[in-house]
Amino acid sequence: MSDVARPAIAFVSRHEGSGWIDALAKAMPSERIFDESNIDANEAASVELAIVADPAPERLARFANLRWVHSVWAGVERLIPLVAARNIPLVRLVDPTLSNAMAEAVLAWTLYLHRDMPAYARQQRQCLWMPHAYKPASSLTVGILGLGELGRAAAARLVAAGYRVTGWSQSAKQIAGVQSFTGEAGLREVLTNANIVVLLLPLTQSTHGLMNAERLAWMRGGADIINFARGAVLDSGALLAALDDKRLGHAVLDVFDQEPLPAMSPLWNHQAITVLPHISAPTDRASASNIVAGNIRAFRQSGTIPLSVNAGRGY
Ligand code: NAP
Repeated sequence: MSDVARPAIAFVSRHEGSGWIDALAKAMPSERIFDESNIDANEAASVELAIVADPAPERLARFANLRWVHSVWAGVERLIPLVAARNIPLVRLVDPTLSNAMAEAVLAWTLYLHRDMPAYARQQRQCLWMPHAYKPASSLTVGILGLGELGRAAAARLVAAGYRVTGWSQSAKQIAGVQSFTGEAGLREVLTNANIVVLLLPLTQSTHGLMNAERLAWMRGGADIINFARGAVLDSGALLAALDDKRLGHAVLDVFDQEPLPAMSPLWNHQAITVLPHISAPTDRASASNIVAGNIRAFRQSGTIPLSVNAGRGY
């Protein structure tokens, strides 16, 4: 297909997109990629492919002839209703660079909790010299909820660091060194045995509010929780209650119901909570652009659309 005949690709982002368009254009120089706001009505009708970075779904409405949508984010919950209603395949980002960043973050914050850094930070503010007993990694169990692209990479990194690792997913998994659980009974097993619980589930109808007061009460006394999934997977009111009662130890939160986290939120100043600004695994533009480019090249050559999100399942 000549470049002139080639239909435009719309880039639709929640935030300003010029850096993305440069990276995407570099990865696929023969494609015509435009920011959604620079596409006129005529050209909009020819757009059959949109590359998206978590936009408001209504921004895709003007592209009546979309054949598929490629997300440069791994989490796509905001777009599911739109693609389900229009029956358009939605391809999400699966990128080893992203999985590696998430595995690194899970290991970093697991070590932070394991090596008592929240307690030592508090003690320093009080000029308090008080060593805590050393625990080897092999004495701690880390339970990962969600053993997908990111959960599996995180599990492997934790196993290599010497932790005992359990995981929970929809279907059973075989991952070296990881005990895999499924179903409600499996969830209870993981939660009751883990010293640290890591949330790496997609946000869907079944995971919304999954970690509520009842499930938090299944966690062992003094256990810690890391939420790198989505804010709404964890009931923050129930979490605050469990931390205030000292039933749980510490929470590391990277994702929230509302982002940026409002200044009035009680989560900001809670001494048993570490607040992170959604940074555990940012998309790497260059690497994501190369992956998107490879998928689009295959589509141009053979019409193949990569494996897409299951809209009914929600991920
Ligand atoms: P994924 O590959 O789709 O994996 C999802 C995992 O969750 C799978 O193991 C799946 O089980 C399991 N699962 C889904 N629903 C379940 C349920 N109801 N019960 C039990 N298990 C369930 O997703 P991913 O790429 O690993 O990403 C996970 C999430 O991380 C994303 O959706 C996003 O929200 C979040 N994320 C956060 C950041 C950040 O910076 N904080 C960055 C990227 C992504 P099966 O394997 O059996 O299907």
